[in-house]
Amino acid sequence: MTEVSSRVHAKVFSEDADHFIPPLLEIPLTKLRKGYLEFLADSTEQEALQQQLRSFAGRATPLTEATALGHRWKGRVFLKREDLVHGGAHKLNNALGQCALAKFMGFDSVIAETGAGQHGVATAIAAARLGLKAKVFQGAKDVERQSPNALRMRLLGAELVPVHDGEATLKEAVNAAMREWVLRSESHAYCLGSIVGPAPYPRMVREFQRVIGDETQEQLRQISAEETVDALFACVGGGSNAAGFFTPFVESPQTRLFACEAAGAASLSKGEAGTLHGMETLVLQDEDRQIAGTHSISAGLDYPAVGPWLAGLHAEGRLEALAISDEEALSALRELATHEGIICALETAHALAGAQQFLQKEPGSTVVICISGRGDKDLNIIGEHS
Ligand SMILES: *Cc1c(COP(=O)(O)O)cnc(C)c1O
Repeated sequence: MTEVSSRVHAKVFSEDADHFIPPLLEIPLTKLRKGYLEFLADSTEQEALQQQLRSFAGRATPLTEATALGHRWKGRVFLKREDLVHGGAHKLNNALGQCALAKFMGFDSVIAETGAGQHGVATAIAAARLGLKAKVFQGAKDVERQSPNALRMRLLGAELVPVHDGEATLKEAVNAAMREWVLRSESHAYCLGSIVGPAPYPRMVREFQRVIGDETQEQLRQISAEETVDALFACVGGGSNAAGFFTPFVESPQTRLFACEAAGAASLSKGEAGTLHGMETLVLQDEDRQIAGTHSISAGLDYPAVGPWLAGLHAEGRLEALAISDEEALSALRELATHEGIICALETAHALAGAQQFLQKEPGSTVVICISGRGDKDLNIIGEHS
């Protein structure tokens, strides 16, 4: 499953493209597209989801002005606080949406894949809340490396399935979860964690995450700062927090959009057109058109491709990409902790470092950074590097 088919010419990528679907998934995906449209049109379901986001997930999250950081970095800095969503990251916005959809479509169980375990935990939380069974596939190596998340998932009532194939990490977990879905799509929904995979997942996940950007826009309006925002910054793994944050601002040409990638997994900066996991997008490839190995200090950014919606925005020139090293991310994380009292996730730290670099070049600018998650899960890794 590691082969990539590529084209050399420039591509306009689309999140709605549907020619890359594995044949066995055609029926469940068709059913999902239909169910999703019905779910969107059902005002009772939509109101119930809004209520879960407010009363359970803790939305709206604050927009915090980082005055000390602004003083040090010579600009005006706002933080959109997804670290305060229940579970500690933006991932629950999407998991609650997809689990509500699964229930609406009459399923009693959800399947999910997880790498470091963040999406597995979010799915387990949402499933527990909504009365669904959750079955989460995770590479056996990751189960061990990320043992607190394995404990969380089991405590939340999810069935955790360690996958021993191959390298026993995310790629094998995705394959195992997909196989399970093919076998059980009559009774099980598949809850996907980012704006990747075959249609309708990229658009659907982006819509479930756009609450981040919609709230930010409204919060900026309330303080009459919307027109003054020069740039937005978000970290990019698959791209769900970035896409949700950027969506309402795409039509505001005065606001630049920056995707901050791990330098060792920079698919926007260094990827080429290819197909992977049922989507055509930018994929990191070696000379033999095999998926290239990636590295990042943050597990959530360690993915060799990026959602087609972001790849498309980048091809149009609307989205700019910055490749951030592990050291730059760690240094920005420490600044935020010391001067603002917030320990963010290692993934998020890439967005901070991107904003810091931008303000060095454009002092006096106003920027908003998406704080995609909190850093408790990363304390051991941060400790090893100090
Ligand atoms: C999973 C994760 C990411 C990366 O995923 P995206 O889909 O790119 O948003 C970023 N930050 C945190 C805190 C995460 O848990």
